Amino acid sequence: MPSTPDLTDPAARTSSADPRLGDRLALHGGPPVRVDPLPSTSDAAGRRIGEEEIAAVTDVLRSGRLNSTVGPVTRALEAAFAERYGVAHAVASSSGTAALHLAVAAVDPDPGDEIIVTGLSDAGTVLPILAQNAVPVFADVDPDTGNLDPESVRAAITGRTRAILVVHLFGVAAPVERLRALADDHGLVLIEDCAQAYGTLTETGRPAGTVGRLGCFSLQQSKHITAGDGGLTITDDPELGRRARLFADKAWPRDTGERQHLFLGLNYRMTELQAAVAGAQLPKLSGVVADRKRTAERLVGGVADLSGVATAPVKGTSWWQFPLLLDVERVGSAFDWAPALRAEGIGANPGYLARPLYANELFIRRRTYGASGFPLPAAGAVLVEGGCPQTDRLVTGGRLLVIGWNENYTDSDVDDHIVAVRKVHAASGTFVSD
Ligand SMILES: *Cc1c(COP(=O)(O)O)cnc(C)c1O
Repeated sequence: MPSTPDLTDPAARTSSADPRLGDRLALHGGPPVRVDPLPSTSDAAGRRIGEEEIAAVTDVLRSGRLNSTVGPVTRALEAAFAERYGVAHAVASSSGTAALHLAVAAVDPDPGDEIIVTGLSDAGTVLPILAQNAVPVFADVDPDTGNLDPESVRAAITGRTRAILVVHLFGVAAPVERLRALADDHGLVLIEDCAQAYGTLTETGRPAGTVGRLGCFSLQQSKHITAGDGGLTITDDPELGRRARLFADKAWPRDTGERQHLFLGLNYRMTELQAAVAGAQLPKLSGVVADRKRTAERLVGGVADLSGVATAPVKGTSWWQFPLLLDVERVGSAFDWAPALRAEGIGANPGYLARPLYANELFIRRRTYGASGFPLPAAGAVLVEGGCPQTDRLVTGGRLLVIGWNENYTDSDVDDHIVAVRKVHAASGTFVSD
């Protein structure tokens, strides 16, 4: 077998080292860099699900105890997760959206109170705010990371603000130390959405999810670890922890033995079957993060010399996906790059979302509760003064290209990415001139 050139070595990045670099773009009829599908989180090739998960689920089934109020597995998962994060409390729930709902409900806003959020995230970040009758207020993001910009957050604070809900997008650390200081100064609660950020380390080297008062994680199919669906909410605060736990279980204080409902809660309980899978996935998390970091850093090195293209900071990033930031004037837009890369056999999408969260029907048409529009004002979504131009630029302006990432990529898979990105970059002049 011929040895593959090391594409992270600049001297090797010539078409004599890898003849594919000289090919015409697949989009223009040339041969694609890659024909075989890459491992993806949507099937077994891109997941680490094995005998451990099968045995754990089988044990639960044999026990006949499938509900967490009678079985031990969900409580054990919570204890293991709390220990891993070095926090006092972890509460399991049915999804990442539920984990965030627990956090918002623990904060207990009054109807019409405001929670500052990003428009560049999964809808699961904002839906719980509306479900608690609070108003999401959209602040703008840093154009180089897609994460909330503390200055924009500061400008969005009003007398009704109760919390800041920050996302570590794609596993790139958000500036949570600065946001925590801002929150503390204004008596606000900082909630971290870590659905994409297992294993992410913040500016000061702390695990993402432990700088805010609450951290929320998802076990949905596409995340670093999965149970199909599922969520975990962590906190060091006993009051917030107790409220979150009660909220997920109809506010029924089972620890007192009393059949009582202390406040308005829901049933967001994780099942023992989910917890069995999650409990078997958890010990694999460090390896998943380490492998994603190693391979993503190989791609970073392989494209570092390209002009008009920037990668995310390597330090602390856990690479849920691989964002590439394009200087649209120089190398064209993600709407040109994504189809070109896909033709080469590389998964890529422009902007991450079809539209920023605040531009969805939910907000535009105020489709919340009946015809009331409540709790949104008549104008619909509430944005910080001046709007969110950087969010728009990333999502619909062609600046953000999202390349799919996976823990099971081999070095050769990464090298296919390097060749494809370099091919598209070399041809990007055609995107700009027309
Ligand atoms: C996936 C995700 C959610 C929602 O999690 P679900 O488990 O799908 O409900 C929330 N926020 C972010 C940033 C996510 O990536």
